[in-house]
Amino acid sequence: MIERRRTRQIHVGKVAVGGDAPVSVQSMTTTKTADVEGTLQQIYALAAAGCDIVRCTCNEIEAAEGLAQIVPRSPIPVIADIHHQYKMALAALEAGVQGLRLNPGNIRKPEHIKAVAAAAKERNVPIRIGVNGGSLDPALYEKHGGLTADAMVESAMQELAYFDEVGFDLVKISVKASNVPIMAEAYRKLSAATDHPLHIGLTEAGPLPGGLVKATAGIATLLLEGIGDTIRYSLTADPVEEAKAGRQLLESLGLRERKNVDLIACPSCGRAEIDVIDVANRAQDAFADREIPLQIAVMGCVVNGPGEAREADLGIAAGNKRGHLFVKGRNVAVVPENEMVEALVEWATFINENGTDAAIARADTARAEREANKDRSALLEEKGDDANHSTEKIVEIRRTAG
Ligand code: SF4
Repeated sequence: MIERRRTRQIHVGKVAVGGDAPVSVQSMTTTKTADVEGTLQQIYALAAAGCDIVRCTCNEIEAAEGLAQIVPRSPIPVIADIHHQYKMALAALEAGVQGLRLNPGNIRKPEHIKAVAAAAKERNVPIRIGVNGGSLDPALYEKHGGLTADAMVESAMQELAYFDEVGFDLVKISVKASNVPIMAEAYRKLSAATDHPLHIGLTEAGPLPGGLVKATAGIATLLLEGIGDTIRYSLTADPVEEAKAGRQLLESLGLRERKNVDLIACPSCGRAEIDVIDVANRAQDAFADREIPLQIAVMGCVVNGPGEAREADLGIAAGNKRGHLFVKGRNVAVVPENEMVEALVEWATFINENGTDAAIARADTARAEREANKDRSALLEEKGDDANHSTEKIVEIRRTAG
């Protein structure tokens, strides 16, 4: 269990952030906000993928007008992203958004900042102080001799002081950089300096798969330390990938309840009786749109598979052109190799509706176990310890080299 650092709680529309609220997932639309239908399509897809809060840019008056139509139809709270023009923040509030994000690096006039905070206070709308390493206030950049964790934290605290002056405290804060160690250090310092909820992210993480690795390195490190109340993956990809990644990260850390299948699969090796990558990918596709919160294993051989995946709710292991199904480590059925994925879907659906005990009870476990043992013995006899065919390879190497 991760012991989360206690922060104050605020609400972005219906979503609580901070305090004992579950860590929420955020993403941002990539459409023009003035394109109401296009933006809503993306928001629906994001919500279906597990996104709790969505952000849309509000960079022109047409975008603010779009927000006025988007907000009432959005299934999740909408935050307006504001850079440079404080008047766009006022227009977004007028449009009814449930949150604002202000960049202190490019809205710097105290009277502008305070005007937005006062208007947000009137409407009870929270603001994220969104410090970004790439657009840090030039004065702070110079003072700290470049982009440092201290410079980003100072930027956030300055903004907080302006908000204080108008008595506004519905605030969450982010200090994002594209460098993992700097970003992590900044959040640790910020977490020690304030109890406002923190929005965690690595900015400009980049395309998949590198972006996913970098962002996970930063976000997961902080979450494991108990830091973070809401997260966003900033990937150069379809935003649905951001939502999926956020959701999966939280589920894998035990910070959110599992909603979909957790597919585990062996990495395959010389013992594999099937193309594990292909079967695992087909299983992943088959379960993609099903809300089945089970751990399901795809294992390449019946020799080691059932044992290695004994903790899974359901699994299948290949052997002698057959698939051996097991539930919580107990063999329950044998199916032809080309029906492995369909069998997984059928058993997973049954377990989801009736539980694992009922699944074991309906099976002829003695027969399934006998068949599994038969195939296991046959494979061991055939391949023995030399599953990678090394003896044959050595003979071949000698033949070629000689
Ligand atoms: S389950 Fe079998 S095929 Fe998969 S990695 Fe383990 S030994 Fe190899």
